[in-house]
Amino acid sequence: MHSYHFVFYLPAMSHRTIRSYSNGIITVLWQPQKCRHSKICSTLLPEVFAAKHEFKIDIQASDSRTIAETILHCPSGALSYTPCEKRAVSETIPSPQQESVLL
Ligand code: SF4
Repeated sequence: MHSYHFVFYLPAMSHRTIRSYSNGIITVLWQPQKCRHSKICSTLLPEVFAAKHEFKIDIQASDSRTIAETILHCPSGALSYTPCEKRAVSETIPSPQQESVLL
């Protein structure tokens, strides 16, 4: 299975960086400037989210539904995801609209 990792720099928006990871089913976005380093993601799913010295995401280390459900626990909104358009119909993930961001 292919995975993709992109880093977007948005200079017009004051140093905003968005890191993007895709496995063809979901695309996970991480915005470092929003991260509060609560380590909830790395505690719940350490095989995917590593938040020690450098924040890393291994999107191939778990299934898309588990990753999506973990992202819904991120308290800052630093993590988010979108379903990929060409995913198989049988692969269901929670709707991103169910996300609750605690500020
Ligand atoms: S759960 Fe969210 S705020 Fe906490 S370390 Fe992970 S990305 Fe950062």
